[in-house]
Amino acid sequence: MTVLPNSLEARDVAFVLHPYTNASQHLKDGPLLIAKGDGVHVIDSDGNRYIEALGGLFCASLGFSETRLVEAAYRQMQELPFYHSFGGKSHETAIELAERLIKLAPVPMSKVFFANSGSEANDTAMKLVWYYHNAIGRPEKKKIISRMRAYHGVTIASASLTGLANNHRDFDLPIDRVLHTDCPEFYRYGLEGESEEEFATRCAESLERLILQEGPETIGAFFAEPLMASGGCIVPPATYYEKVQAILRRYDILLIADEVICGFGRLGTMFGSESFGMQPDMITMAKQLSAAYQPISAIMINDKVHQAIVAESEKIGTFGHGFTYSGHPVATAVALETLKIYEERDILGHVQSVAPLFQERLHALGEHPLVGNARGRGMIGTLELVRNKATREAFKPTDGVAIQAGKRAQAHGVITRALGDNFSFCPPLIMTEAEINEMFDRSQVAIDETYGWAKTHGLI
Ligand code: PLP
Repeated sequence: MTVLPNSLEARDVAFVLHPYTNASQHLKDGPLLIAKGDGVHVIDSDGNRYIEALGGLFCASLGFSETRLVEAAYRQMQELPFYHSFGGKSHETAIELAERLIKLAPVPMSKVFFANSGSEANDTAMKLVWYYHNAIGRPEKKKIISRMRAYHGVTIASASLTGLANNHRDFDLPIDRVLHTDCPEFYRYGLEGESEEEFATRCAESLERLILQEGPETIGAFFAEPLMASGGCIVPPATYYEKVQAILRRYDILLIADEVICGFGRLGTMFGSESFGMQPDMITMAKQLSAAYQPISAIMINDKVHQAIVAESEKIGTFGHGFTYSGHPVATAVALETLKIYEERDILGHVQSVAPLFQERLHALGEHPLVGNARGRGMIGTLELVRNKATREAFKPTDGVAIQAGKRAQAHGVITRALGDNFSFCPPLIMTEAEINEMFDRSQVAIDETYGWAKTHGLI
């Protein structure tokens, strides 16, 4: 990179610490400066146009230039730019949004609590698991089970739920009380000759063994993202949640569905829970809740959890949890407008109509010699890049093959992110069939080039 003194690039390198970035490499590479958004595209400071194949970070469901959301924010800022909801204060957009969410809930829910990020929502859900069990007189039922390769965020509690090594390593995580059970990825962990259903049974049995080993009276909750998006677009094997939920019911363990990515149409259903027959006690959501135009997240709780909070308030005198910006008027106004747009434009119907093409193009790339497995659901999918298609041998992390594929894609006008060795797609939900074709055409060129690069570097 040629960096001019005092350019934005130079000032970025001088002053900004980037999330999820190799801090050493960034000093050499500098940033890609994004200057503008237009539909499913973003445009960099040199005027290059990219298809945003990941919807930013799995979130910009309505693309990058939805004026109705801009206007909703502006209107709200003029009327009431900020007010909080502590001590029983309230305002119209938070109330309307909560009511709408309860109506959309995939299972009966009672109340909505607002926060600002997916991590905060999951932290809150984790605290509520503990609070609930104290309230109902089972203070020993506090351990929480999540899954290997799950992604639930980066705050101390949610990073502990996350089951990815880089989120724990040298951060002294996970904290105690958090356990990880098997990752339900059939392609990687299914055994020779095992059917998907048998694999699901094995995962469920392994979960039950963990519960029995720890003592069912100590296990408070199971956290699950319906389809594990960031962990590598892991679609649960058939019958998985049916079997897992039977075990959770047997030992009276709460189910928390992390709908931060799956929520609001990504899988072709309003919530991912509906796609897989999940019946959660709490649901966390963020990202597409506001189409990413404002930072906002929410936790829906069922009546049984709410009753416990009421009982604790009677005992303690308050519910001692909340963020300054819980239910922020501008964020709730934008989220409300987002939900109205989803309904008026039948975004769910649109996803259902274009998803077959999306999945067909994804799975066609699954035939590529560099791709071991193509998997997805609705408008999310991934291509797992492997060294040896026949044996499924993976590349070493230091080979940097997915990073290379990401770079090649960027050179061809497609932005995605390397998640392990996964070349991932999670574009804005408004993407048309023509744009889907263009995204996969360009990605195919990038994958062909990466294959050539891997060969010349002796990686294949
Ligand atoms: N949960 C899931 C499933 C996510 O994918 C993410 C972020 O990607 C989070 C939680 C954390 O959300 P945030 O980055 O807003 O804290």
